[in-house]
Amino acid sequence: MKDITSCPLCGGKDLISLFKDSTISVPYGPKINYIQETVVCLKCKRGGFAGFVGDETSLEAAIKQSTKFSITVMLNKLFEEGYREIYIERIFRLPFGCLSKWQDGEYTPEGVAFLKLLCDNPTLITRSDA
Ligand SMILES: [Zn+2]
Repeated sequence: MKDITSCPLCGGKDLISLFKDSTISVPYGPKINYIQETVVCLKCKRGGFAGFVGDETSLEAAIKQSTKFSITVMLNKLFEEGYREIYIERIFRLPFGCLSKWQDGEYTPEGVAFLKLLCDNPTLITRSDA
């Protein structure tokens, strides 16, 4: 439990954490298991709503892991369709080696969104080379 000391609805102090095995995935990413913590108030028996969720470290780690895999999956899809890394970087004026860095985990949310856009619409690449 993190940063929650009393129930935001009734002010009750008797809070418990419930743990559940869950999975999450990002587009093109695999499902990753994580432990979902939900804080429940013993006084009003409510919990699990926004701002009443426990430690999300496990969830954040799962999203990060799925995202890292998704980059490899998306790049491999583009490579299999004949688009080379250096070509994509040149067309979109990305720094040399940028896609490899993303694959190594040095990505930004914008980069991942851009890659998903290309993967969903690979003809954008050739259409941008005009
Ligand atoms: Zn309560």
